[in-house]
Amino acid sequence: VGSTTDHSGERVKVVVRVRPPNSNETGGAITVAPDNKGIVLYRDQSTIPQSGFEFDKVLREDASQADVFQAAVQPIVEDVLNGYNGTIMAYGQTGAGKTYTLSSIAPDAIGMMPRAASAIFSEIAGDQNNAYTVVMSYIQIYMELLQDLLQPQNNDLQIREGEDGVFVAGVHEVEVKNMEECLHLLQVGDRNRVFAFTALNAHSSRSHAIVMLTIMKRRNAAPQNRALGQKVKVGKLFLVDLAGSERLKKSRSVGLRAHEAVSINLSLTTLGMCINARADPNSTHIPFRDSKLTRLLQESLGGNAKTSLVIAVANALQHVDETLQSLQFGSRAMRV
Ligand code: ADP
Ligand code: MG
Repeated sequence: VGSTTDHSGERVKVVVRVRPPNSNETGGAITVAPDNKGIVLYRDQSTIPQSGFEFDKVLREDASQADVFQAAVQPIVEDVLNGYNGTIMAYGQTGAGKTYTLSSIAPDAIGMMPRAASAIFSEIAGDQNNAYTVVMSYIQIYMELLQDLLQPQNNDLQIREGEDGVFVAGVHEVEVKNMEECLHLLQVGDRNRVFAFTALNAHSSRSHAIVMLTIMKRRNAAPQNRALGQKVKVGKLFLVDLAGSERLKKSRSVGLRAHEAVSINLSLTTLGMCINARADPNSTHIPFRDSKLTRLLQESLGGNAKTSLVIAVANALQHVDETLQSLQFGSRAMRV
C-alpha cells in the first residue's frame, strides 16, 4: 500500500514546555538556546550551568497553546485520520503544567485535547469522500487499577487483546460530533476524578488520566453498494496526563502512599523503558506487559504509531532537581 507512511523505528518526538515561575518561585533556572532546541539548567543564577540538553523543540515560557499544538499535536492528528494510532503524553512533576497543556478549558488557553478534537472535526467536515464516526472514552489508572471516568462505578476495567488489537473491555464510549461535546465529557470525567480521590483522601496527581478518541473512517459508497461491506480504517488518539514524576520523600511514604509510590514508579519506569526500546534495533524485548499504562499504550508505543512526549518543566530554582530528572527522562527518549 505504497502511499502509507512507515513509522517503524521512528522515535518519540520530545518537546519541552517551560512554564513561567509563579509568585512563590524564583526564576532564572532555565535558559533556552536561540535555536529553540537547546536548554540549559542552572542550580542558581550565579553558578555555572548544571546541565545542557537538546530536544526536538523547546517551547519557552511565552509559548502559547497554539505553539504547543503545532509542535506536538498537529502532525499526529493527520496520521490518526488515516488509520494510525497516535499518542500525546505529558510528563513532569506536579505543578509543572501537564494538565494546563493537555486539558485547560480556559477560553483564552484551550488545551491540546479540545484542540485535537477541533482539528479532527474540521478535517472530517471537509472530506466529502468518507464518512466518519468519532467516539470518546476517558479513564484513569491509579495503583494499577483502571477506572472509567465517564462511568466511575466501573473501577476495575480490564485490558484485553483481540483481533483488532488492544482494548479496554466494557469502557464507556460516547459518540461525539463536535469539540463542545468533547469539552463536556472532559469536565464530567474531571469531576468524577476529583470525587473518587476525595473519597480516598488521596490526590489525583498520583494517577494517569487518559482520553481516548477513536476515529472510524468509511469510504462513502453508492447506496446500492452499502450492503456489500465497506473497508473501515480505525485510528486511535490517546492523550495521556501522566502522574506527577516527583519522587515521594521516603519518610513520608508509608501505607497507602508507599503503595502509590511503587505503582507510579512502576508505570513511569516501564514507560521509559518501552520508549527507549522502541527505536532500538537491538532491543529484543519491550516490557509492555509490566504495567497497565504501557499495556494499554503498547500499539502506540510500538513502531507503527506516532508519539509526542511533552516534558513540562517550571522555570523555578526551587524545582531544579525534579526538572533535571524530567529533562533526563526526555533526553533518554531522544537518544537511540
Ligand atoms: P500539573 O498538571 O503538571 O500538576 P498544572 O497544569 O495543574 O500542573 O499547572 C500548575 C499551575 O500552573 C496551574 O495553576 C496552571 O494554570 C499554571 N500553568 C501551567 N502551565 C502554565 C503556562 N504555560 N503558563 C501559565 N500558567 C501555567
Ligand atoms: Mg495535573
